[in-house]
Amino acid sequence: MSAVLVLGGAGYIGSHMVWQLGQFGVRVVVLDDLSSGHADAVPGAELVQGSMANVALLDSLFASHRFDAVMHFASFIQVGESVVDPAKYYANNVANTLLLLDAMRRHRVRQFIFSSTAAVFGEPAYCPIDEAHPLSPINPYGRSKLMIEQVLADYARAYGLRSVSLRYFNAAGAHPDALLGERHEPETHLIPLVLQAVAGKRPHISVFGTDYPTPDGTCIRDYIHVMDLADAHWRALQYLQAGGETTVFNLGNGGGFSVKQVIDTAAQVTGLPVPVQYGTRRAGDPARLVADATQARQVLGWQPQYASLESIVAHAWRFESVTSGGRL
Ligand code: UDP
Repeated sequence: MSAVLVLGGAGYIGSHMVWQLGQFGVRVVVLDDLSSGHADAVPGAELVQGSMANVALLDSLFASHRFDAVMHFASFIQVGESVVDPAKYYANNVANTLLLLDAMRRHRVRQFIFSSTAAVFGEPAYCPIDEAHPLSPINPYGRSKLMIEQVLADYARAYGLRSVSLRYFNAAGAHPDALLGERHEPETHLIPLVLQAVAGKRPHISVFGTDYPTPDGTCIRDYIHVMDLADAHWRALQYLQAGGETTVFNLGNGGGFSVKQVIDTAAQVTGLPVPVQYGTRRAGDPARLVADATQARQVLGWQPQYASLESIVAHAWRFESVTSGGRL
């Protein structure tokens, strides 16, 4: 593996991947429009600011580099927004991805890693969720990701473009040395919101529902450390390099933690009180979403290194502290 094009490499998961590729000595070109990414998140990589929709730019990048593979993190990710403005999601997550895949075909780059999501499953029929679980997304975001998974299966058969789609459950945590972390604007994810409440940047964390059929009444999610996600991508690249066929993997810890457990862990890790407000359910939230990641473990030899909620929250807190100027 000598050179990789990373779309959306300046974003949360992408930037951790770029760091990991750098550790392995891979030459990385990041294409990111910086609509939500951060230029300072990719030190050491060549950053090209631009859009996937810019076909001439794609052609010039492919023509001037010999990429072994493409990794695609450049999607919109807000479920609620996708319901209100589905056109934005289908244009970027689907149509622009097709332009990228066309450029790959033109330039004969035939290995692709795609950021997919647990949202392709919709309301779970059973838990933990394996790859054979029915695919029935309940919002445009999930549908946009599933469409590309289906496109990729067809492109493998027709064009020999091989890919691995990685379905993330709840990406969380940060680089252990706080070099990188989660900086979404607006932030919607539980762990950074809880830590921002601890840091006094928000008045409180609102808990969306306490009457779910779970042991403590709050929703259970499968939080998986962003460094472990990056490691799974690296292994997926090796898998493709070794001739592996197009496939999908679910990526999660296989455990699952409730909203209350996250809050308790944040209090324990930070040693500070968490201001909490208990509220009503958020529309479209299943009670429990947990991955069965057996396939990724068996086929990729993947084993999460930071599986404990404590390490996930501690690393996120370290990053939060650094971005607050070390005042916490
Ligand atoms: N959640 C919450 N308060 C918040 C944000 C999230 O109680 O301010 C809950 C949400 O209902 C879900 C869990 O935390 O059960 C994780 O939500 P997040 O938005 O981080 O990820 P999702 O599982 O929706 O992809």
